[in-house]
Amino acid sequence: MTQKNKVDLLIIGAGPGGYVAAIRAAQLGMSVLCVEKRKTLGGTCLNIGCIPSKALLSSSHKYAEVKAQTPFADVGIEIGKLSLNLKQMMAAKEKVVTQLTKGIDFLFEKNKIIRKKGTARFLSAQEVAIEDEATTAEVWQARFILIATGSESTTLPGIKVDEKQIVSSTGALSLTKVPKKMVVVGGGYIGLEMGSVWQRLGSQVTVVEYMDRLVPQMDHELGAALQKALTKQGIHFQLSTKVTGITEKKDTVFVAIESADHKQDTLEADVVLMATGRKPFTEGLELEKIGVARNDKGFIVVNERYETSVSGIFAIGDVIPGPMLAHKAEEEGIAVVETLAGQKGHVNYDALPSVIYTHPEVASVGRSEEELKATEKAYKVGKFPFLANSRAKAVGETTGFVKVLADPLTDQVLGVHIIGADAGTLIGEAALALEFSASAEDIARTCHAHPTLNEALKEAALAVDGHAIHI
Ligand SMILES: Cc1cc2nc3c(=O)[nH]c(=O)nc-3n(C[C@H](O)[C@H](O)[C@H](O)COP(=O)(O)OP(=O)(O)OC[C@H]3O[C@@H](n4cnc5c(N)ncnc54)[C@H](O)[C@@H]3O)c2cc1C
Repeated sequence: MTQKNKVDLLIIGAGPGGYVAAIRAAQLGMSVLCVEKRKTLGGTCLNIGCIPSKALLSSSHKYAEVKAQTPFADVGIEIGKLSLNLKQMMAAKEKVVTQLTKGIDFLFEKNKIIRKKGTARFLSAQEVAIEDEATTAEVWQARFILIATGSESTTLPGIKVDEKQIVSSTGALSLTKVPKKMVVVGGGYIGLEMGSVWQRLGSQVTVVEYMDRLVPQMDHELGAALQKALTKQGIHFQLSTKVTGITEKKDTVFVAIESADHKQDTLEADVVLMATGRKPFTEGLELEKIGVARNDKGFIVVNERYETSVSGIFAIGDVIPGPMLAHKAEEEGIAVVETLAGQKGHVNYDALPSVIYTHPEVASVGRSEEELKATEKAYKVGKFPFLANSRAKAVGETTGFVKVLADPLTDQVLGVHIIGADAGTLIGEAALALEFSASAEDIARTCHAHPTLNEALKEAALAVDGHAIHI
């Protein structure tokens, strides 16, 4: 029951963590208020992250395929003059964002969730002030408070993002013209996805990465294969290289770089994308006042129930340690409210997939070979290339492979790593296998429809014991 300005659960932030938690809590019978400072719901993910980036990745991929002509000419489709209407492409992206954010408004109404537009600030461990320029401040009390305030982009010391020539991912999602030259600082998934978008639309893109490989947290074989594929598409890479400074002169940005062997150089660009990572966002919450502890990187520290150092205050999503992914935030949102409702909510972090939506896509779940080696855990490898998969052949998407890692004694699947068209969808089956502690043989003996890309996973599972059929 909602008493005056009092609810069971008050959620700060309506990203995938906060809004999903709000809906689940309402389903479980709690009175819920969700406060969001943005005009629209959905957080980083829907407004300036997952969704707009995937919309642009899709439309830029279509454009690049038509431009390359080869995939069409090869199958007898001849294409006339091609032109790019960037304004329309951006408008189409915005339309998707608007439809999806409005969809959450609908779900909030349906579940009778109180939605407050404004910035939340703690007054005490049970009390939050909600302030918005358009309305007078309100104070709300709650039995439980959930912090789901997400994250923000980082930059390098001394480099200021102006979202025009030096942009974060947010600026890179809304450029009004295609830069002739773009330098992407950071070879993680955001840099590679946004770099791909602009390369496909005509930019000459150079990615500068401090480490000696791309996406270093993923299985190394995937990073190497992805680099090869993106190089073939025209993206340049400067690995083992650090950016030492950025200066702007008129319309040109000069990026000073230094390689691991101390060679210095300067790259010129019209636009520089700073994709150096994200950091937790807790600004303005006044956590110090109520004693919510954060670690040295600014993440809110929580226990296994997602409770912070202050009883009754919980935190989930990008603002706590762990992979900064929308589905991780969602899972934690469900787990925390189910625990509050007396159920046994939990998240299996060993079965949390991660995907890079480049072309080919890259997807992983479970442990990488490097992680297994580091912990001296024995493993068997089964691999299968898409080149030998009939559907991949039929649709002209033969780049990449599936790799299954399994325990040599029990055959339990330890990790699955895929690079190839639709890897992000294919990884779902692998995540389910890990969730159910399946063996490689379980996957191998599951009947897979023919002809599908999923058959490559079955074949890789068969290959764990050397029984792949089509290779
Ligand atoms: C370009 C880009 C692409 C991405 N692509 C993917 C992808 O493909 N897949 C994937 O899984 N992840 C992706 N991510 C990451 C994903 O967006 C985040 O992991 C996810 O949004 C985190 O969810 P969250 O609920 O923790 O926080 P957020 O989504 O960041 O939401 C937090 C919300 O809290 C609000 N807020 C903050 N402080 C206050 C306050 N004091 N009062 C009121 N409201 C407040 C913010 O306005 C924000 O809306 C991408 C991110 C970016 C930037």
